Amino acid sequence: MTIAVDPSCLDSSDPGSISTEDARQRILASITPLESLEYLALRAALCRILGEDIRSPLAVPGHTNSAMDGYAVSSSDLPTTEARELSVVGSSFAGHPFNGTVKTGQCAQIMTGAVMPGGTDTVVMQEDTESVSEHRIRIDERHKAGQNVRQAGEDIRRGDTVVTRGHRLQPSDLGLIASLGISEVPVTRRPRVAFFSTGDELRSIGDPLAAGDIYDSNRYTLYGMLTRLGTDIIDMGVVKDTPEATLKAFRLAADNADVVITSGGVSVGEADYVKQSLTELGRIDFWKVAMKPGRPLAFGRLGDSWFFGLPGNPVSVMATFYLFVQPALRHLMGESTIDPLVLNARCESKLQKKAGRTEYQRGVLSSDRHGNLTVEKTGSQGSGILTSMSRANCFIVLPMEFESVERGMQVPVIPFSEFRV
Ligand code: AMP
Ligand code: MG
Repeated sequence: MTIAVDPSCLDSSDPGSISTEDARQRILASITPLESLEYLALRAALCRILGEDIRSPLAVPGHTNSAMDGYAVSSSDLPTTEARELSVVGSSFAGHPFNGTVKTGQCAQIMTGAVMPGGTDTVVMQEDTESVSEHRIRIDERHKAGQNVRQAGEDIRRGDTVVTRGHRLQPSDLGLIASLGISEVPVTRRPRVAFFSTGDELRSIGDPLAAGDIYDSNRYTLYGMLTRLGTDIIDMGVVKDTPEATLKAFRLAADNADVVITSGGVSVGEADYVKQSLTELGRIDFWKVAMKPGRPLAFGRLGDSWFFGLPGNPVSVMATFYLFVQPALRHLMGESTIDPLVLNARCESKLQKKAGRTEYQRGVLSSDRHGNLTVEKTGSQGSGILTSMSRANCFIVLPMEFESVERGMQVPVIPFSEFRV
């Protein structure tokens, strides 16, 4: 005899669940980026999202200059049949240009980066010249007009857009913007993110553990992931599983933050008041996402804030954060590129998997010196086993239709470095 059971996380497929891609699309489609900008000194803008295009007020390089150490000449003086002598009439060093004009039969010594003297358009490398006397050199016929010269504006023209709005500013961008003489940049506002953990079994570090209690780890992984991403954070601690505490915490969070994240309390069998308070305060969808770890997920609006109800299991929190919350926050911050790189690696482990859901197993990705990638799983893959994340450096992404993976198969992987913006 069989008994009728409710859907559970152990089911291999569930008609009521949505795909990870569907969940992600729905989330991104409903979030509009924050509008306000702030102006920051260039150094303080590192890792922030540029709020407006940066256009160049200058041409770069500003002057036509030499790409080599050597002699600046006029191309009309380059010999075509046999070597020829030129007299050296001056020198142009970086920061100390030659102010005269180079005439026919003459040349000027020049260093890399120095301004090309009047009358010259070509540089002959030091190594390709022969010294005849103190002020005379000889060059042969193997040279081309215009060689070894960097033209003014060849890198950037005045008015060109050099960094586009929505770009997360990297060290190279700070350098580039500094090279244009710009000292302040417009960046988007940092979102305020409030989060708390739900569960009567949770204790904070420093509290004694009674039988069945566990330390709250989700607030630490969330702290880490949010801090890296560059949001302001409001850590609201652990909230007890009572209707009053839950409602109060949701109200406070929604009043003070752009985004509210909770962990725990969204799976089947949870005390109903979490759902109840949420429906009372906002518009929340409860989804079953066809993925492991991280099946239950709540998403919607809580007052004027965005709400993410993540599952309680520590690995599920990290997986759902990286897959759904992080792209949503990046979109909210106005960032234009938010998709992680997906690579292919040869799998060195046999992997168990259920069809009908996307699995994010944890792996260690390595490359040989030719860049060939291999990946191995990090032991047990339970959703509560945080060591599997801590020892890993990538997700092994096993698509919906896969049933198992044999050693030697190619599998898609997402390096964790892709989530470290
Ligand atoms: P829940 O979704 O509330 O049923 O939680 C699922 C599992 O995750 C349970 O074993 C919880 O004890 C555990 N869990 C929930 N929240 C946390 C947390 N903040 N830190 C560590 N484990 C948690
Ligand atoms: Mg719970």
